[in-house]
Amino acid sequence: MPELPEVETIKRDLERYILHKKIKGVVIKEPRSIKEPGPAAFKKKIEGQSIKEIKRRGKVLVLSLTSKEFLVVHLRLTGWFSWDKKADKSARVIFLFSDGFLNFCDPRLFGELRLIKDWQNLPMIKKMGPEPLEISKFEFIQMFKTKRAKIKPLLMEQSFLAGIGNLYAAEGLFCAGIHPQRGVYKITSEELGRLYDCLKGILSVAIKNRGTSVDTFRDLKGKEGGFSSYLKVYGRKNQPCFKCRTPIKRITLGGRGTYFCSQCQH
Ligand SMILES: [Zn+2]
Repeated sequence: MPELPEVETIKRDLERYILHKKIKGVVIKEPRSIKEPGPAAFKKKIEGQSIKEIKRRGKVLVLSLTSKEFLVVHLRLTGWFSWDKKADKSARVIFLFSDGFLNFCDPRLFGELRLIKDWQNLPMIKKMGPEPLEISKFEFIQMFKTKRAKIKPLLMEQSFLAGIGNLYAAEGLFCAGIHPQRGVYKITSEELGRLYDCLKGILSVAIKNRGTSVDTFRDLKGKEGGFSSYLKVYGRKNQPCFKCRTPIKRITLGGRGTYFCSQCQH
């Protein structure tokens, strides 16, 4: 699933290809991709509008239109955009511009497109936690004070911290030397400070490398992200740890495959 660095990469590509351009037409091939309003109203309201601004909040993209409405996109598990000279046959929704086609592809159909007036009042946005790259170390440490959950599932909760998913949670915890199953109340402020530095560093390098392609993620021109070669634990079951050579373990935690080093993470 695309996480903060992948969605940020898509945001930057969208700025490059469609910012200030007019949507000349919309072809909805899969009405289920449009959550709000109905497909006919969606098409009618969006055609002829220009893209004024593109924002990212957590894993969500928000495109401001000249009509003062917002196109809110959640890619979920397998959603992506491609920018091409032609329409993609497998696309669920196609946006036509004078110089190209923006294809919204989503094989598993979990992605969500919404055209709404007030994006900040959308429940998933309203309850979203802070952006990890925008809070201070002090604020980050404070957030854990009243929590009793296990660290990794908590990091992935969007209402706690925005944009972190399975991959970056695993990488952040390895970097900080924290076991994914540790109860938050047992983790010291010093360790949390280290986790903050690790997450910030990893997310920044991942954004610079245009994300990680371990699944369907590609940028708007179909290129894979360059962060895959930086992964220390994610997807490395039974391969030797880069620090101590112990084979990396994979367990299921909160329903998700979780990779860690039993020697380096406590
Ligand atoms: Zn190790």
